[in-house]
Amino acid sequence: MDDPRAALGEALAAVADTLRHHRDLGFTDVALAQPEAPDPSAALTAQEKALQGCTLCKLCRSRRTVVFGSGNPKAKLVVIGEGPGEEEDKQGKPFVGRAGQLLTKMLASVGFDRERDCYICNVVKCHPERNRNPEPDEVAACNPFLMAQLDAVQPAVILALGNFAAQTLLGTKDGITRLRGRPYLYRDIILVPTFHPAFLLRNPGDQYKRMAWDDLKLARREWERLTSGVS
Ligand code: URA
Repeated sequence: MDDPRAALGEALAAVADTLRHHRDLGFTDVALAQPEAPDPSAALTAQEKALQGCTLCKLCRSRRTVVFGSGNPKAKLVVIGEGPGEEEDKQGKPFVGRAGQLLTKMLASVGFDRERDCYICNVVKCHPERNRNPEPDEVAACNPFLMAQLDAVQPAVILALGNFAAQTLLGTKDGITRLRGRPYLYRDIILVPTFHPAFLLRNPGDQYKRMAWDDLKLARREWERLTSGVS
């Protein structure tokens, strides 16, 4: 149809027909409001349940537990690591081994309580044997679950830990030393890359510690700017 006014007239007539039909069916209200966003906690619980027994990639053969995530479902800071290590695989929670203990201290150093202020998860939810890097097909299989977690939690800031998480999320091959030190926009979320605590444990010099501390302060500033301190 070439005449835009005629097209609009037809569209409005179709809407009127639909409304008459709904009235005839007994509807008395027209719902104009957006449906309420689902409760983040309920959404995460449902997602975690749906992931149990997942066999979408070969990591299902090396894992004991699907390590989904932990922390506050309403947190405005999401911390993302690479994949569960051995201890995480045993306990079913992310970042509970040595690297996790350091992570807890790193977060606390800028005033974040890991249970109250953070939701913590990984790019892949299952432990790769010998802590090898997850492979592209494994990352691809798990990606919808990470995206669903972010959709549920709706963080303002992501702290991406280490080469693997930062490169995967930002879609780059640049290393963490080059990527860190500044914020990025990832979907509508501010992403701050920093060193993985396991890397800091292997490289205990002040040089990396200082850079990580700068990144954490940056994440804190962004979090405060975007939440006005409301978590
Ligand atoms: N390293 C990660 O990347 N994630 C964990 O959960 C533990 C160690």
